[in-house]
Amino acid sequence: MRYFDNNATTKMESDLAERFAKLCVEEYANPNSMHSFGLREARYLEEARRKIARSLSSDPREIYFTSCATESINWILRSSVLFKGRKKRIVTTSIEHKAVLNTLKDLKASSDIDYTTVGPERNGIVKVAKLLDEVDEETFLVSLMAVNNVTGAIQPYEEIGEELRKRNVLFHLDAVQTIGKIPIDFVSCFCDYASFSAHKFHGPKGVGVTYIRQGAPIRPLITGGGQERGMRSGTQNVPGTAIAATALQRAVECTQESSSRLREYQHRIKETVEELDGVVNTPENSISNTVNASFAGIRSEVLVNALSEEGVFVGTSSACSSRGDGGQYVLDSMGLDSSLASGSIRISMSRFTTEEDVAFLIEKLKKTVPLLKF
Ligand code: PLP
Repeated sequence: MRYFDNNATTKMESDLAERFAKLCVEEYANPNSMHSFGLREARYLEEARRKIARSLSSDPREIYFTSCATESINWILRSSVLFKGRKKRIVTTSIEHKAVLNTLKDLKASSDIDYTTVGPERNGIVKVAKLLDEVDEETFLVSLMAVNNVTGAIQPYEEIGEELRKRNVLFHLDAVQTIGKIPIDFVSCFCDYASFSAHKFHGPKGVGVTYIRQGAPIRPLITGGGQERGMRSGTQNVPGTAIAATALQRAVECTQESSSRLREYQHRIKETVEELDGVVNTPENSISNTVNASFAGIRSEVLVNALSEEGVFVGTSSACSSRGDGGQYVLDSMGLDSSLASGSIRISMSRFTTEEDVAFLIEKLKKTVPLLKF
């Protein structure tokens, strides 16, 4: 089996999976209990928080645990409405993950806010000036993804963040596709909030992290027992957070080595797509693990199934949406012809992808694509 769907989710390393199981069996007390067993769990939790903060050059008091990035995103967007004062508008892009777009849609229907979506250029990257043009006196928050999950395009989040800080507009960064792919530093990108999920960087599923800059306004989304300093109630997942912290540390430490190796693989895959008369939808300025490609006349599900029968697993676009609609809207927003947009596949690697995996993928692409064309 060759797995090329790492933007959807990643595997855990065996030693971390074993340690996770051991922690579940041995370190199961509630970290909020007063007895010494509970206090030991609280220490695990705080150590995880410190480790994550260190890996991201932030302060442990800025790190909050949630269940996934979708929850973190909901928290930030929904909480921001409570601080907006008389302002009314959130600015975002049309290529955000549905966790952002559908939450904004819901907020618009249920409160007095409105939002504007800025489209990307043909290469999938949003222009700084175009987005900033939409930020006016009515705007209280901008929500932007650092890296698009469908195409791998890196967005100009640092320049946008810097300008938003000058204009006193709050900035949420969806950092889900950054960890282990590009160096990320929440201070130099001037964000007030950031969201990410452990399962995207070889950590366990069910662990999300929210970064909240000290001093940035925030209210809890989930109320109850007052865990996470009153900001996110519910008993914390101690084994999950402990393993997520180690996975994050490893991912950050390996970023440089793995991204340059994957860049080489990315070139080979792009060349193959072009040799097969396909179109590469991933721009030059992208993370190195992703190639989004379309082949005229071939529907993506047909190609995904054919490759799957050959033992190669690629994505259509975003497995985080319902199975059907994927991330076609991202390619549509880029102005890609609809027959190409509906026929796109997303090949996404991880730092564990080998040269043999890539050679196998290329061989199977060369076998299946010509067959499906006729
Ligand atoms: N944001 C981006 C850019 C994503 O790629 C994803 C998932 O693919 C999410 C948000 C949602 O993450 P999760 O499903 O872990 O909540």
